[in-house]
Amino acid sequence: MANVLVFAEVRGGELRKVAYEAVTGGRALAEQSGGGQVHAVLAGAAGIADKAGALAQYGADTVLVLEHAGFAQYNPEALAATVAQRLQGGSYGYALFSATAQGRDLSPRVAAKIGAGLAPDLTGFVVEGGAVRGEHFNMNGKTIATLALAGSPAVLSVRPAAFQPSESPKPLATEAITSAVDPSASRVKVVELKQGNAGKLDLNDAPVIIAGGRGLKAPEHFKLCEDLADAFGNAAVGATRAVTDEGWRPHSDQIGQTGRNVSPNLYIALGISGAIQHLAGMRTSKTIVAINKDKDAPIFKIADYGIVGDVFEIAPALTAAVKQAKAQG
Ligand SMILES: Cc1cc2nc3c(=O)[nH]c(=O)nc-3n(C[C@H](O)[C@H](O)[C@H](O)COP(=O)(O)OP(=O)(O)OC[C@H]3O[C@@H](n4cnc5c(N)ncnc54)[C@H](O)[C@@H]3O)c2cc1C
Repeated sequence: MANVLVFAEVRGGELRKVAYEAVTGGRALAEQSGGGQVHAVLAGAAGIADKAGALAQYGADTVLVLEHAGFAQYNPEALAATVAQRLQGGSYGYALFSATAQGRDLSPRVAAKIGAGLAPDLTGFVVEGGAVRGEHFNMNGKTIATLALAGSPAVLSVRPAAFQPSESPKPLATEAITSAVDPSASRVKVVELKQGNAGKLDLNDAPVIIAGGRGLKAPEHFKLCEDLADAFGNAAVGATRAVTDEGWRPHSDQIGQTGRNVSPNLYIALGISGAIQHLAGMRTSKTIVAINKDKDAPIFKIADYGIVGDVFEIAPALTAAVKQAKAQG
C-alpha cells in the first residue's frame, strides 16, 4: 500500500483538465499498489481553496491547500521546496505530475531535491511487485522505452490525456499547508503568461477540437476550422504535423505522437488522412468525426462518424448546422 501525492495544476486561478487527469492517475497508482490514499496539492492565491471540492470529486482523499499571493503565478522554487518537504515528511510511495510545461519543470526539481528517480512523460504505467513500470516515447516516438523505478517515493509525470478524468467522489477533506520557503523570495519569477491562442481554449482543456490536415491545402483555409470552432463556442483548433511542418499553424497546435496528446469529448478531423502518428495523439477522444474525400483514408477506421466528401463544401455546411442548432437552443 502506498500513498500518492498528486500535483493539481492551476492556471489563472482555475484547475486545468490535466489536474483531474492527474488525480485519476493517482487513484490508479494507489489502487494498483494495494489501496493507498491520494493527496492533491492545490496551490494558488487566496480563494484557491474553493477548488478543493472538484479534486475530491475525482478521487482526492485529502486536498493540501497552499494559499498565498506568491502562488498566484507558477512559482517553481517555492513549489518544489514545499512538495519535496511534504514527500520527505509523509508516507508517500509516489509523486505524480502532469507532463505539461509546468509539470516538466517542477517534477525534476522535486526529484532532485529528494534524490528520487524520475520517470517523465509516461503514456501509461503498471505497478508490479511494489515497483512502477511506465512507458515513454523516445526518439520522436520511433521507440517506446519501458522505465522501471525503484525506491520510494518515486516521481512520475504523465502525458496529458494519457488518463481520461474519471469521477470517484470522496468526502471533501482539506489540510492547509504552508510554503517551505518564502514564496516572494524566489529567484525565479513568472512575470507574465502569454498564451499562444490568446483568449482561446487550450487544446488540453477544450471539450471539442476541430483539427485540420493537409487536405485544407493552404494556411488561410484554416478559417474553416476557426469558424466551426467559433460556432461550437467551446472548441480549440489543432493540426497535423504535415501542417505545422509547413508552417501553416504553430507547432504548439500539433496533435500526435510527437505533438500534443488530446482526449476531447468531440474530435472533428478535416482533411486528415489518419497516419498512425496522428492517431497516437487523439485516438482516445470520446467521439471522432472525420471528413475526407478519400473513402479509404485510415482515419475512417477509428471514426465514429465519417463523411466522405469535399471538406470545402462540408465544413461550412456543418458550421451553419451547428449555429442553427445553437440558435434553437
Ligand atoms: C517519427 C514521426 C513522428 C510523427 N509525428 C506526428 C504527429 O505527432 N502528428 C501528426 O499529425 N503526424 C505526425 N507524423 C507525420 C504523419 O506520418 C503524417 O505524415 C501526417 O500526420 C499527415 O498529415 P495529414 O493527414 O495532414 O496529411 P496527408 O497524409 O497528406 O492527408 C491529407 C488528407 O486530406 C484528404 N483531402 C485532400 N483534399 C481534401 C478535400 N478537398 N476534402 C476532404 N479531404 C481532402 C486526403 O484524402 C488525405 O487523406 C509523424 C511522422 C513520423 C515519421
